[in-house]
Amino acid sequence: MEDLVVMYHYVMEPENWRGSVPISPIEFRKQVEWIREHYEIIKPEDIHRHTNKPKCILSFDDATKDQYINAFQILKKMGVPGYFAVMSGPLVERKVPIFHLVHTLLSHFSDKEIWEEISNQVNIDEIKNNCDIYYSYEMNKYRRLIKYLFNFYWPEERGRAFLEEKVISIYSSLDVFIDKFYLSEREIIEMDTCGMSIGVHCENHLPYSGNPQEFYEKEIKVCKRYLEKILNKEIKLYTPAFGGGEKSIQMQIELLPVLQENGFTLGFTTEKGLTELKEGFWHKRIDCNQLIISNVV
Ligand SMILES: [Zn+2]
Repeated sequence: MEDLVVMYHYVMEPENWRGSVPISPIEFRKQVEWIREHYEIIKPEDIHRHTNKPKCILSFDDATKDQYINAFQILKKMGVPGYFAVMSGPLVERKVPIFHLVHTLLSHFSDKEIWEEISNQVNIDEIKNNCDIYYSYEMNKYRRLIKYLFNFYWPEERGRAFLEEKVISIYSSLDVFIDKFYLSEREIIEMDTCGMSIGVHCENHLPYSGNPQEFYEKEIKVCKRYLEKILNKEIKLYTPAFGGGEKSIQMQIELLPVLQENGFTLGFTTEKGLTELKEGFWHKRIDCNQLIISNVV
């Protein structure tokens, strides 16, 4: 096991985005320069190519606009390929998943201000007792409470109504938000033309349901068809949302035959580790913020 797949989400200045942990464009460039010295950075389509150094794939999830503005422009200048996994729901259905609305809310309003507005509508003790699932990576108390409330406590429609109203108050409409926050069709086509790889992330960013055929139809097929239509080529790469979620191991086993039947050749998980790209379907990744450079070589 010596090949590396790096997982990126937002590539933007941390002070402009407080919703989750981004990597700044300068840090991103430095990291890619370091990786390029020690690895051969390849497209996922080239895993069988002979290389002198171990191979590395740079993978990007969620297809947010910063990946076009920052990551893609840097990669293009450096002549390095990246692999971008697209969430088609916002583009096709004009629907934004809850966790992206929460990231946007946290980025534009103070944590305390949000909590004060919503805390009188909920059972505070219940939320306080359960929100510690975020303890490992969310240091701020209010943010743990807010994330738990929207992702687990309130039914989706109740949280969505609150969040969409807030997002509209900043962006004037949900359509404007979607156009500013996600890659556009034109940008996806341009990235593909410039040598980037494009794959399926999901339709609506749902965790694996436990029913492989139904999950494929709902979350994968629509996105695959959409990308094949706009890019006029077969899409064979898959990065599951949340790595599949709580049922990730079950998903890797059950979904594999369905994916292969439908022409997929590679999948990328959120399990942490190095991998052997020539072997097997699923590959582990390492988050860019956990890539402790000296430990990898
Ligand atoms: Zn995602």
